[in-house]
Amino acid sequence: MRIIIIGAGIGGASAGIALARLGHEVTIYDRMRENKPVGAALSLWSNGVKVLNWLGLSEQVAELGGLMDTMSYVDGLTGETMCAFSLAPVTERTGQRPYPVARADLQMLLMETFGLDKIHLNMKMVGIEDDGEEVTVTFANGETATCDLLIGADGANSITRDYVTGGGIERKYSGYTNFNGLVAADPRVGPLDRWTTYVGEGKRAAVMPVAGDRFYFFVDVPQPDGLPYDKSEGIAPLREAFGHWTGGVQALLDSIDPAVSFNRVEIWDIDPFHTWVKGRVAILGDAAHNTAPDIGQGACSALEDTFVLSIMLGSNTISIEDTLKRYEHSRTDRAADLVLKARKRGEETHDYGGDLTESWYASLRKESGENVLRGIIGNIVDSPINLGGAVLD
Ligand SMILES: Cc1cc2nc3c(=O)[nH]c(=O)nc-3n(C[C@H](O)[C@H](O)[C@H](O)COP(=O)(O)OP(=O)(O)OC[C@H]3O[C@@H](n4cnc5c(N)ncnc54)[C@H](O)[C@@H]3O)c2cc1C
Repeated sequence: MRIIIIGAGIGGASAGIALARLGHEVTIYDRMRENKPVGAALSLWSNGVKVLNWLGLSEQVAELGGLMDTMSYVDGLTGETMCAFSLAPVTERTGQRPYPVARADLQMLLMETFGLDKIHLNMKMVGIEDDGEEVTVTFANGETATCDLLIGADGANSITRDYVTGGGIERKYSGYTNFNGLVAADPRVGPLDRWTTYVGEGKRAAVMPVAGDRFYFFVDVPQPDGLPYDKSEGIAPLREAFGHWTGGVQALLDSIDPAVSFNRVEIWDIDPFHTWVKGRVAILGDAAHNTAPDIGQGACSALEDTFVLSIMLGSNTISIEDTLKRYEHSRTDRAADLVLKARKRGEETHDYGGDLTESWYASLRKESGENVLRGIIGNIVDSPINLGGAVLD
């Protein structure tokens, strides 16, 4: 079957690998001129890593992954450790160690594994037509391409989403801006094998280890959307928001070189919706479930889409349209659950009013690790990659 995928992100590239392995003729088009992922790194939880293992990439992902053995919350103002505990139960219960990875490394691994010669960059899709026999895609440069199945992995502002749903789905501002990047790992910020999160005043500043003796840092500041920011300001907004915080956070700020690695991203998500397919066209990844990063599951969920869509296409034979309906049926509730969990977590973390965030801080001071681990593992247990029961008690 001829398959076109729009978007060479984690969703599109992973789907490309899986579907090519099933013997399909897959081509990816992306509007980007070169591979420049937004965001410095991401945490791949056990469900996401397992899909990559299934794609044959277990060794490569383990090489890119940081060894994140423990986790702690620290009072950002005083430097007091609120709680610290091992992440070993995540690996023991799910059967797979989670890995924080530099995004550009993962992206390049996926694109190279798929085959760079089959990825056409600088090709912005502007139109879709499905005549029931084949789908024709039109690009901004006037070129067209046809296929038997079109997968829109075209991200949060997906055009394919408008096509399959009929439009009208709006993104919602989550209430905060995220700043992230890569810095040299530094024990003054946190132990080198630990996910350390400083919290206070509804803000957070966190580091996770990634390969190459680096920390992935991500820092959240609750603020209105659309605030002006010029790159020449560098990390000035962080100095303003965190200037009075404890020494570990100052060490982190001092280590950031905005010219080398620094991103500023307003965080938006989308209310879950359940129309993911129309005829021979399906959406996958952020196009289908734009998720706030508060539980680190957006890309993992895209990888789950890849897993399910591939299993469906490899095992159902009635028709492409029928198979896509089964993909939609299998995925939308699970993806919705993660979107809503992330939103809830974001509300708890970012102090949008009430005493939710203060209560959370109080609970962290009493935390043995059990509740946090239950939450992390709870995000993973229902993954389709677990085939309905591979998580051990
Ligand atoms: C700050 C931040 C931190 C995050 N942290 C984590 C984390 O720790 N763990 C996790 O699992 N997830 C995380 N996520 C979520 C994760 O980044 C996304 O879920 C994931 O990257 C989505 O991949 P995708 O392939 O669906 O979309 P994208 O990566 O957005 O790729 C879409 C691609 O489509 C292309 N495209 C778009 N429109 C067109 C068009 N019209 N024609 C051609 N090409 C087009 C784009 O150029 C792009 O390359 C985070 C997100 C953010 C913002």
